Amino acid sequence: MSSSEFAVETIRLTKDFDSLRAVNEIDLTIEKSEIFGLLGPNGAGKTTTIRLLSGMLIPTFGKAKVLGMDSVEKSLQIREKTGLLTETPSIYDRLSVRENLTFFGRIYGVKSEDIQKNIKKLLKIFDLEERIDSKAGTLSKGMKQKVAIARTLIHDPELIFLDEPTASLAPESAKVVRDLILNLAKESNKTFFIATHNLYEAEILCDRVAIINRGNILAVGKPKELKEMMKGETYTIIRFQEWNNEVENFLEINNYKISNLVQEERKIQIKLKDIEKETPPLIKKLIENNYNIVEVFHERPSLEKIYLELVERETNGGVR
Ligand code: ATP
Repeated sequence: MSSSEFAVETIRLTKDFDSLRAVNEIDLTIEKSEIFGLLGPNGAGKTTTIRLLSGMLIPTFGKAKVLGMDSVEKSLQIREKTGLLTETPSIYDRLSVRENLTFFGRIYGVKSEDIQKNIKKLLKIFDLEERIDSKAGTLSKGMKQKVAIARTLIHDPELIFLDEPTASLAPESAKVVRDLILNLAKESNKTFFIATHNLYEAEILCDRVAIINRGNILAVGKPKELKEMMKGETYTIIRFQEWNNEVENFLEINNYKISNLVQEERKIQIKLKDIEKETPPLIKKLIENNYNIVEVFHERPSLEKIYLELVERETNGGVR
């Protein structure tokens, strides 16, 4: 695949602010039409990465190609073809929804008749048609965020950067905004690059996620693949009807490795190499030896677990 077929391609992309390295030699390749998430804690380098990719910052070294164009040499062209939702989007309270969107459409050089067409189309998708003439200052926070997203789409960009699109919203509004992003992605072939510190958001919205901490990319993959990385961390938990001290001995003799035991809850936790193969004979053996089992379940690693583990490992062991 030639590089122009990628929405984003970075090679050792790096940004220093004086002695602070905000983004450290990141290599990313994002396909067109992907919803890509950059997941990381505060100060990880998400906003800086978006600024580099949208041509607002010049890298200290390394390179970024956005829609096939060099982020430094073609920053103006990149801005024409991308939309950017910043963490604190400027929507003018004293202007109506229509006036706000018309204003930003003009900034992008969209023809007047196209602006009005796009406004109608976007407000329909965003379920805001009835508020077209309301002053932005009278809208709820969630509605205002929808207008801010509509603003980033007014010039029909191919690639949309969303920096923490739901961070300032109540859970209900956050859900509306997430559903909207999913619908937009489904109905168009636009690429979305979403910076978030919200694991749930990354998992439900993104096709692929990169985990970033202190400017370093720690892992990249589909949420499912990232969880697979921790496959060895799946535990089998067995809860008994009554506690029998002998169980510990019995399992050890049979070569099972107990990783935790909570006597008050009548539970043992075992780490099996292959849960599919090893669970049935284990249960069979226990039943045959008169251990009454109430439940058996497997605790699989969550994206949260891998995220926390990677970030913690890097923060404690990282060299800076
Ligand atoms: P948050 O979720 O808190 O916005 P982030 O992941 O977006 O965090 P960045 O805003 O990219 O993080 O910041 C990365 C690091 O770079 C931080 O330590 C920040 O203080 C620093 N930084 C960002 N912009 C500048 C700047 N213009 N001048 C100096 N340091 C900066």
